[in-house]
Amino acid sequence: MMMITPPSSQEVIDLTSDCESDIEITQIIENIVEIYDSPPSPPTSESDSDSKCKPKTNPYKPKRKPKLKYRPPNGTLLNIETYDSSLPIENQDDDIDNEDVGFLHYALKYSKRIAVITGAGISVASGIPDFRSSNGLFQGIKSTTTTGSSGKALFESDVYRSEQSTAEFHAMINQLHEMTQNSEPTKFHRMLNTISEEDRLLRLYTQNIDCLETTLPHLRTTVPIMNKPPYPPTIQLHGTINYMYCAKCNWNSELEPGLFSDHQPPACPECLKLDETRRNDNKRSQGIGCLRPRIVLYNEFHPDGEKIGQISSTDLRSKPDCLIIAGTSLKIPGVKRLVKELARAVHAANGCIIWINIEQPNMSIVDSIEHLDLIVTGDCQDIPSIIENYDDQLRNTKGKRNYKRQTPSPISSASSPKKTQRSGYLSAPQSPQKKDSKFAKNKQIKGRVIKPETQNLIHKRLQSLTDRVQSVNTGVKSRKGLKPAFDN
Ligand SMILES: [Zn+2]
Repeated sequence: MMMITPPSSQEVIDLTSDCESDIEITQIIENIVEIYDSPPSPPTSESDSDSKCKPKTNPYKPKRKPKLKYRPPNGTLLNIETYDSSLPIENQDDDIDNEDVGFLHYALKYSKRIAVITGAGISVASGIPDFRSSNGLFQGIKSTTTTGSSGKALFESDVYRSEQSTAEFHAMINQLHEMTQNSEPTKFHRMLNTISEEDRLLRLYTQNIDCLETTLPHLRTTVPIMNKPPYPPTIQLHGTINYMYCAKCNWNSELEPGLFSDHQPPACPECLKLDETRRNDNKRSQGIGCLRPRIVLYNEFHPDGEKIGQISSTDLRSKPDCLIIAGTSLKIPGVKRLVKELARAVHAANGCIIWINIEQPNMSIVDSIEHLDLIVTGDCQDIPSIIENYDDQLRNTKGKRNYKRQTPSPISSASSPKKTQRSGYLSAPQSPQKKDSKFAKNKQIKGRVIKPETQNLIHKRLQSLTDRVQSVNTGVKSRKGLKPAFDN
């Protein structure tokens, strides 16, 4: 019988209990390596002098991307409305599939180049209404305008067609601006900020003009967008309520709500200045532009459209490994197209594509995106606590699962018996039987008896592993190609 004792524990792994083939041996070796590569415990106060010698890193920041062990069949639905973050994973409602939650956790925790497309749904919790729902901005505006203009009409490019519609547009802009100034980023915004802080956010493409994300330090943007890289982490696809600009000379400045209180758009100060200079020089006037909020109305082009095109092309080429579409019903054709292209790139990189919204996408969107691994329905603000809950339990049970293989951990025991109830599939599942056979194979690995002739091979591999552990303990990179496990 061969045994190995990890440096941080006196518990013992029995290697002779359950493997047969070379692949299975590799599996066991990988499990052991995982123990040594696990995040170290947070430093205790007694080891002050020690902590000076150790690199200062976030102990929970994932160091490497583990293999994806489960991918839901295309179009799998996960309804998180009944998820209770105070309960362990195995005690959740039957409708919540642990493996799907695991996939969601994997995607958000381990992906290295995450592209995110967001819509108004992620800001609703901060008090800013979304656009299209029954309590949304469009409905609210309709009931307050004197002309009975629909909310959507106030975002049409011909909103300046009359003094009346201009006045209503200005009133709406002021109302929205005040609302956003008094609102805070939500938990979902903060989760994206953390992902960006961990350098795992490829880009946040937001359709929101409320600027809640860009107040966070790692989700900043520039107005206008810079011509050259490095591009900002956040791209505001529909502009920003915090800025105004002149469509004639492109002068740009922070929005001053007081200027938009009339039934006419304010004159551009830059154009006025230029005009005065020209008049003093006895030159002909070239006209004076009007100021308007730097938001993109329906049927308009973004003033930074070309640069956004460059950035999205760069992102598509950079092999994104995760796409999150959150809080949007994806009604804008240009955004839908971007999502489709990103989904294709993520799928090609074997990444994860996840929809998160209060409602399911309609079938035309599902068809258009083609690959949608997981459709999460419910409040996106619950996602951070679901991930945290899963993460906590994974961390708490990881050691036990690896050190005491005979004791089923809450996570493995929760995922092993196949649940009969699922949230379902939006479209026909591609190959659910594939998933079942994969799990059946994993189960087969457990509980086998090792053949004597394979023990020599294990011995050799363990010897190399032991060398590696020693090199970790001494902090010396003694062997080519082997890095100390706690080294970043
Ligand atoms: Zn101007």
